[in-house]
Amino acid sequence: MARCPLTTLVRAGGIATPDGVWDPTTIVIRDGLIDELRTGSSRTGREVIQAADLVVGAGLIDLHTHGAGGAQVIDGSLEAMRRFAAAQARHGVTAFLATIGGSVENIERGIAAAVEYIRAPRSPGEARCLGIHLEGPFINPERPGAFIPATILPPDIGLLDRLASQADGWLRRMTLAPEVPGMAPLIRRAISLGIGCSAGHSAATATEMLTAVEAGVEGVTHVFNAMPGLHHRSPGLLGVALTDDRVTVELIADGVHVDPLMMRLLQRVKGWPRIALITDSIAAAGLPDGSYRFEEQDVTVRDGEARLADGTLNGSTSMLDDAVRRFAVAAEIPWHQAHASASLVPARTLGVDDRMGAVQVGLAADLVGFDEDRQVRWTMIGGDVASVAWRGRRPR
Ligand SMILES: [Zn+2]
Repeated sequence: MARCPLTTLVRAGGIATPDGVWDPTTIVIRDGLIDELRTGSSRTGREVIQAADLVVGAGLIDLHTHGAGGAQVIDGSLEAMRRFAAAQARHGVTAFLATIGGSVENIERGIAAAVEYIRAPRSPGEARCLGIHLEGPFINPERPGAFIPATILPPDIGLLDRLASQADGWLRRMTLAPEVPGMAPLIRRAISLGIGCSAGHSAATATEMLTAVEAGVEGVTHVFNAMPGLHHRSPGLLGVALTDDRVTVELIADGVHVDPLMMRLLQRVKGWPRIALITDSIAAAGLPDGSYRFEEQDVTVRDGEARLADGTLNGSTSMLDDAVRRFAVAAEIPWHQAHASASLVPARTLGVDDRMGAVQVGLAADLVGFDEDRQVRWTMIGGDVASVAWRGRRPR
């Protein structure tokens, strides 16, 4: 890992865009930003990264990740955040929302650690934290997923205000259940604080969900999971999620949470521009099978599935680069479109697409080199090489 000189050239074998993979292109990077895109090869520049055998795409952005690499946000330390962010970078994730759920105590500890990480100088090997995703506590106790039901709370604007002020403007996304009595004013308050609202851990009817969308709810958290299935006489939250273009849905594409056939169905009715791939990953992501502790509960990971003692799925252990590959295959779309669902779409969802999310002049040089199997070979964040996993030739 080394700080980049003023100008870096990346000679890419191709550039991943939603419309296809471009021809060989030289990416000129200056002061951490993409300064110029030149087709063909170029000889000038201070430092050259040879990536002629790789497709270079925008860094991945995970809107919903609790931890990875043996660390999680609610560990509550800067050190844990750094380990988590470094594990993300190794998998091509250049930015993420630190996702926190569980008890208020957990949430407050997580907020403190995330804010400390955001404020601290970032090392080149660590992904950017774009803010906090609060998953609950204002969700439906009948749809707890892996959360302990006792930690689920009725809407409480005072508590939201307190958490928002602790987060000092970094609360960016909140998962809530719109049908819970008293949620409408809380949604209005959250939106006024600049927090994007996403419906999840919910049993909302279609009418309740439509009302929430009218009020500004713009997302659905891990679509299909922790909500009732689709019923032809009772379409519910899912019916609106699938058909309303104002809604972008999160999808856990680890092959465990949602059957590949349902991923294909989702792509056919919704389309990749309204699907944000997420991991919902826990600390065990990127680690071998074993026993771990997640948000005060014991979790066993076997064959990549993380389950509680009663068998409930508990977050995922896969990483976002894997989700992109799986989603492309399951949804029968080209990889570059699945890649956009994990870069451009989440950037738009967060309103940061004027800074990142595509290989475009003026945006951050948050880039990933993918080999022919679309495995991550290197990650660059703000023009600094963050992670290198070369299998063949080393970079020259
Ligand atoms: Zn989650």
